[in-house]
Amino acid sequence: MSSESTDMENNFLSGPLPWHGAQWQPLVQRMQAGLLSHALLLKGVPGVGKGYFARALATRVLCHQNSGEYACGHCKSCELVKAETHPDLLVVQPEAAGKPVKIDQIRQVNEFARKTAQQGGRRVILINPAEAMNVHAANALLKSLEEPGGDTLFILVSARSGDMLPTIRSRCQTVSFTVPDKAQAKAWLSDHIADPLVVDQLLSLSSGSPMTARAMFDNDTLAVRGRLYNAIPELFRGNLTPVEMAKEWHTGNLVELLAWMGSWLDDAVKLKLAADESCVRNRDLMRMLDYLAKKVEAADLLVLRDKIMLQRQQLLEGANLNSQMLMEGVFSDYLELVM
Ligand SMILES: [Zn+2]
Repeated sequence: MSSESTDMENNFLSGPLPWHGAQWQPLVQRMQAGLLSHALLLKGVPGVGKGYFARALATRVLCHQNSGEYACGHCKSCELVKAETHPDLLVVQPEAAGKPVKIDQIRQVNEFARKTAQQGGRRVILINPAEAMNVHAANALLKSLEEPGGDTLFILVSARSGDMLPTIRSRCQTVSFTVPDKAQAKAWLSDHIADPLVVDQLLSLSSGSPMTARAMFDNDTLAVRGRLYNAIPELFRGNLTPVEMAKEWHTGNLVELLAWMGSWLDDAVKLKLAADESCVRNRDLMRMLDYLAKKVEAADLLVLRDKIMLQRQQLLEGANLNSQMLMEGVFSDYLELVM
């Protein structure tokens, strides 16, 4: 699943999210005029709904109703999408987050691209995240991208399109996504989250990415983050050892834990150098941030931040790290900062 997957992706999507209008309308107009490119690359930062957009667009393209901005929701094709059994839609993703898209999966894509559409319309192949294709898989895809069957549409989704083969990128029409303006993101989140303070806090923590903010809310992330935050002073006071802390935390979502612990150090550096609260992301945690900013040298904060973010990146790339050892190391390093 992609980093921005949510439960919403399994439901029927007839149209895009409120902040996607500028990307959606030109594509639908081109489709209706028969001018849609055969390969699209949806690129941009994580958490802004590219995966959502890709599914909504696939549904719209497959819908038997040609007029109208959105999928009709009741034709045979829309019913098949709802049931997740549409024979002309192929969704390709890694077997698990952080794993590659394999060449065997792309061989299936190539076979699929050669067939005729069973529902009499187009065929759509959706690859997300596209940068997960290893070099063999990407090379295998090239041929289909160069000589697509008549009505095949490729939709590639990527938050790290720079990691893709340039030959793949150059064969796609690029559609770029950025974080929506704050008012739009807030309005959308407010439909799901009653407390406006929580909405603000989640948007700040997710750097303005609404889908990430929503996933954080659904996973009760703020409560878990609060528990970790409250445990750190116990570590600093010696009431908990790094080993005990690691025992408690190593089974959690380590990518998320490391992101928080890295961002706290990042904020402490900003406070130290700029002495300005407005650039701090974790504004609800000022006590610890102030403490770190006063107590620790900026260089030491930065070294540890980089180390933690590198470990996080390794996890994202599927590195097989011993979670207990990893977290023991991180908590030991944190403790060492204030010793
Ligand atoms: Zn329809």
